[in-house]
Amino acid sequence: MNHVTSETFDENAKAALADSQLRGALRNATSLFGKRRLAAAQGLTNWEDLRTQARAIKDDVLLHLDQYLENFVSQAEARGAKFHWARDGAEANAIICRLAAERNARSIVKSKSMTTEETHLNVALEAAGIQVIETDLGEYIIQLAEETPSHIIVPAIHKTKRQIAELFTQELGIPPTDDVAKLTSTARATLRDRFAAADIGISGVNFGVAETGTIVILENEGNIRLTTSLPRFHIAVMGIEKVVPRFADLDIFLKLLPRSGTGQRLTTYQSFITGTKQNAFDDGPEELHVVMLDNGRSRMLAHPVTRQSLACIRCGACLNACPVYQQIGGHAYGSVYPGPIGAVITPQLMGLEKTQQLPYASSLCGACREVCPVKIDIPRLLLHLRGEITEKSSPEVQQAKGRTMERFAFKMWRLMMLRPWAYNLSARVGRLFQGLVVKDGKIGRVKSFVGPLAAWTSGRDLRPLDQKSFRDKWASDQGKS
Ligand code: SF4
Repeated sequence: MNHVTSETFDENAKAALADSQLRGALRNATSLFGKRRLAAAQGLTNWEDLRTQARAIKDDVLLHLDQYLENFVSQAEARGAKFHWARDGAEANAIICRLAAERNARSIVKSKSMTTEETHLNVALEAAGIQVIETDLGEYIIQLAEETPSHIIVPAIHKTKRQIAELFTQELGIPPTDDVAKLTSTARATLRDRFAAADIGISGVNFGVAETGTIVILENEGNIRLTTSLPRFHIAVMGIEKVVPRFADLDIFLKLLPRSGTGQRLTTYQSFITGTKQNAFDDGPEELHVVMLDNGRSRMLAHPVTRQSLACIRCGACLNACPVYQQIGGHAYGSVYPGPIGAVITPQLMGLEKTQQLPYASSLCGACREVCPVKIDIPRLLLHLRGEITEKSSPEVQQAKGRTMERFAFKMWRLMMLRPWAYNLSARVGRLFQGLVVKDGKIGRVKSFVGPLAAWTSGRDLRPLDQKSFRDKWASDQGKS
């Protein structure tokens, strides 16, 4: 099992940067999804309107969450669903283990669900002696590899075809092959038997419709349809923020989510589950239990800045667009939620003490904000969290982290920006002495640099100052004209 934690993000990132196979797999996948997303978004003339509407719906939900949750629960209960409320991951897992024990369940099939990854449900179920099988192909691969997901929607994004082929040979005993069709049909054949034998199916939830009590789950493989309809018992695990007011709102979210995530116009399957089956010949479970998870969401909701984190529909677009994620992948974040949104959510779920490095895992370039279908201002959230870290850290901690130096540097910068003569003078001095560190027209790794400058140049080149500044050029052009 992958034991990397958020506390060691810097070291995790360094190790990831040294793994050329990982970086190759990430580069291929993220650039492909990025291009597909762009093409899919350009295919809709009202893309920006849809984003604005989606955000307005989410803002309304978050402002009146209690009311929408009440409606959702009463509508679903009227159709046979039973609800359980969990304050944190441990409570959610305990509820699910109890439900399984009461039904003498020995085998569970599970569809992809970030919420159950968040609670580490598999570990709890296995500790209770219950066998749990992931049925999404990507999740199945990482379960076989005893790893954690490295992407919100593509859990095995970090693995190459060759690595998966070797894993299948090792774990499933098939002859070595890199034929994708053979690999997927092997997984399908293995999983089909598990569906038939499972006592309980566990799924996540993409949207819960307050108006009708309907649970909506999107997927491409058909495994969720089987997970939620073949076993007699279905347990759905849902974050409290996943509710939308009206059925008609799905029109917007079902256009935005697949296009943003994989560039698809629509996912292959959309399951709408409203309560339990009413007649013997209907499809669907005899019992439907919905576990509503808080786990820090109420805290996020209470703060006017962090509240917008809960608008996330887990499409994964910000991960694909992020220059940091593109280089290091998801495991370096040490959390089930990686990338820009992970750097925002994880500190709020796990506390800033153990996740202090994550809000700094961003260049604040804004690419995540540009692609987010619900217009979450992730850079602003990152800055807010950085501010909290600074405010809460003692002077000793700040000194240990090099923040004293950072503060000093920004104070000096401010002084210079307020005094043009000082700015010009420092630029001239810089130009004069940069020859000491410029090589082949660039400033590469400079070990003698201190603090953030040394870290910055360890991974990339710094461009030297031009011999003529923009102001000089402007002045001379003005003179000529
Ligand atoms: S923050 Fe936005 S882009 Fe990122 S996963 Fe959530 S909805 Fe998608």
